[in-house]
Amino acid sequence: MEFKESILVEREDVAEQLLPGQLATLHCKHCHTVLGDSLSVCGELPFLESVICLKVTNDVVVSDEMDLGRNGKLAECIFSHLTCRKCGRALGKALLATPPHLAALRSLFLLRKAQVTCYVLGSCAMVKASAVSFRLESLAEDIHEVEQKFQAHLHAMKKWQADSINSLDK
Ligand SMILES: [Zn+2]
Repeated sequence: MEFKESILVEREDVAEQLLPGQLATLHCKHCHTVLGDSLSVCGELPFLESVICLKVTNDVVVSDEMDLGRNGKLAECIFSHLTCRKCGRALGKALLATPPHLAALRSLFLLRKAQVTCYVLGSCAMVKASAVSFRLESLAEDIHEVEQKFQAHLHAMKKWQADSINSLDK
């Protein structure tokens, strides 16, 4: 969606990467109720086509009843279903117990991207969550760059120290 002559319209053609520090709100695709925001997003889970959230709003209802995954990608997982409080549509799952390989997802909320739209702050547009990447970029490259800067700074300081000692000796 975007503002077009003061009407908010949905954009279909946008593929966005949520940049570090860029904020977005997550909405129910059907009724636009706010479900969460990008500050609570921990990443995405491609095999379930879901956004992983640490927190969601009170408008995401977590079912009291639990299900056991008997086969497929959630085999041996115990999970609750998430629904939209306003329109009642299914939004995803919250994993309560998992096999060890999915342990990192326990107690997190998995919102199906197909059921979510995003309002990227500053964009004046609503976009489908399926068109937005919530993958968290690795910090390894940034750390390597900072390490190189420190090494260069250390080298410059050692050279300055050596030059200072040499000039005192003269
Ligand atoms: Zn809804």
